[in-house]
Amino acid sequence: MIEKNIQIAAYVFASILFILSLGGLSSQQSAKRGVYYGIIGMIIAILATVLGEEVKGGYIYIVAAIGVASVIGIILARKVEMTSMPQLVAILHSFVGLAAVLVGFGSYLDQHESLPGDPEGPVKHIIHLVEVYLGVFIGAITFTGSIVAWGKLEGKIRSKPLLYPGRHVVNILLVIACIVMGVLFTMQDGTNGMLYLYIMTGIACFIGIMLVMAIGGADMPVVVSMLNSYSGWAAAAAGFMLGNDLLIVTGALVGSSGAILSIIMCKAMNRSFFSVILGGFGEGSSAGSATEMEGEVTSINHEEVADLLKEAKSIVIVPGYGMAVAKAQYPIYDMVQTLRKSGKNVRFAIHPVAGRLPGHMNVLLAEANVPYDIVLEMDEINEDMPDTNVVMVIGANDVVNPGAQDDPSSPIYGMPVIEAWKAEEVIVMKRSMSAGYAGVENPLFYKSNTDMLYGDAKDSVEKILNYLKN
Ligand code: NDP
Repeated sequence: MIEKNIQIAAYVFASILFILSLGGLSSQQSAKRGVYYGIIGMIIAILATVLGEEVKGGYIYIVAAIGVASVIGIILARKVEMTSMPQLVAILHSFVGLAAVLVGFGSYLDQHESLPGDPEGPVKHIIHLVEVYLGVFIGAITFTGSIVAWGKLEGKIRSKPLLYPGRHVVNILLVIACIVMGVLFTMQDGTNGMLYLYIMTGIACFIGIMLVMAIGGADMPVVVSMLNSYSGWAAAAAGFMLGNDLLIVTGALVGSSGAILSIIMCKAMNRSFFSVILGGFGEGSSAGSATEMEGEVTSINHEEVADLLKEAKSIVIVPGYGMAVAKAQYPIYDMVQTLRKSGKNVRFAIHPVAGRLPGHMNVLLAEANVPYDIVLEMDEINEDMPDTNVVMVIGANDVVNPGAQDDPSSPIYGMPVIEAWKAEEVIVMKRSMSAGYAGVENPLFYKSNTDMLYGDAKDSVEKILNYLKN
């Protein structure tokens, strides 16, 4: 058991560690340190809470729950493929939402706030009811929205947006219904408002489902980070209900950092934040853009690619989702080392939404020990493209689509892209002509300076490397 002031000090210390953790995660070099800060902060937070005065017993259950949850967490984290990370994040957000709903119901049933005789009793009671209502509302939307996001990313639910006429009006009417019920809920004594809470939870669950169902494939990254933000606000609301300051601070940190990340990603995709939240992007994208592709597709073999690389002075590699699927980062780095040893300038160009989660490519390249100084952001490398001899597009597609710049009918029109086509020669390494995540055709494949090298990315890179070494 620890005293209240020690608990407060521990909470302040944990909050500082969480802020340092977020700061650390903002760059690759300091990311590991950031993760350690987070782990230490969380251990301190859990210990200070469990040993605090509010917990009056039942330690055995708490330890058992932490033990079981830790085992599940470790197994899941070890098993999950890098390509499935967004799904894992989405499903974890759903747990936060569900926790906020359960805390809300528990807190409503355990109404110790409104003690008879307390002069501030009625006001406190109403404030508490508002906290409960808001917490359950945000939690329920986060819960079902995250499950749908998980289903879409996992391929269990089709990624095409589900749209119906008048859906915005229906959503607004549902939110108004929740507000009216919220007013009625706060006017009830004791636990008589349970029915309103149940109905609102049902409506909020429905809103969560419809909100994410309406969002199409190419906007999923923003949805995942938006749900991250919601889960933070749900946790903050749970903190208010429980009177736990640390939960409020942590929830607000997650909520605001998730919102900032969503806005940064919208900028990277040239999309307005509100149009993403309101859904509908990606509609009809599977049919591709209306424009007919001009030009002819030409292919190349591994030996010819090796010859091109031997001649080139400046080479840029654009990795994408396919590199993650093929786990090609290791042979790619072998190839880069071989080329650099023979005096070539080889660099990586990273698009902010390449892969399936923000920073996906950076993590994979760091895993293969690629030095940070040759990994450049899109804006840093685009101006060098005209002076580049060979661009190798490895398992990327949408992020190098010129249609985003010059085809107003393309669903990804306006999204900034890596201007690979401006280089002397472009080699696109993928297994077929099929589209990327946004489901749109890529005019890059038809350009006269582009050659396709078909096959699994890892297999292709290994073959090229063989030719380079011999
Ligand atoms: P894309 O999804 O556009 O394209 C990936 C390409 O990789 C496919 O066309 C596929 O072609 C190829 N591929 C798949 N497996 C292999 C393999 N084993 N070997 C070689 N190639 C392979 O990926 P990008 O990275 O270019 O773009 C990311 C897209 O994902 C964007 O639309 C983005 O908005 C979206 N997105 C991004 C998220 C993020 O936060 N980064 C999250 C969710 C979505 P083929 O089948 O012919 O081999």
